[in-house]
Amino acid sequence: MPNTIFPEKVKRISKEGQEQVLAGYVLDSILIKRKPKDAIVLMGITEKDLFPLPEWNYVFGLASYEDGVGVASIYRFADGQLTDSNFNKSLLRLIKISSHEIGHMFGISHCLNANCVMNGTNSLSETDYHLARACSLCQRKLNSSIHYDNKKRLLELKNFFEKQHLNTELSLSQQDLNLVQ
Ligand SMILES: [Zn+2]
Ligand SMILES: [Zn+2]
Repeated sequence: MPNTIFPEKVKRISKEGQEQVLAGYVLDSILIKRKPKDAIVLMGITEKDLFPLPEWNYVFGLASYEDGVGVASIYRFADGQLTDSNFNKSLLRLIKISSHEIGHMFGISHCLNANCVMNGTNSLSETDYHLARACSLCQRKLNSSIHYDNKKRLLELKNFFEKQHLNTELSLSQQDLNLVQ
């Protein structure tokens, strides 16, 4: 969707000079309305920087577990301007943080089992260290709550990571796929 979807009253210019969007508006006025009846989760991603409340400088994202909607911004993940050279690193951070929030919306809590997308994080360097992949235990939790086709999911993940040139995640999904085949 184009950025013109945000009305003036939910936008502001930050101290650093870029335009920001009120995160709660994205949940309440964009995502909840568009969430299909049979969807468990609808996750929005945006290039615009987000803020949660007037007194806050920014936020990476915001979610409502009750409504099953969330939004995350790629803006802060580039450590500056988003360019061709830092795009993949920024995209990977966005995928990790969005997947983690989606995991919570499926009722999965923080993971202590292995290096996993559901590990709790306090900083971007921790996010960089954690893998985008759910560990075997978290994959089983997910699969016990919605009985999806595990092989099909892994194959689709593998194709996605291949297309995005995310090589660590590509080889991990290949490894997982080899185990179920
Ligand atoms: Zn968490
Ligand atoms: Zn896990």
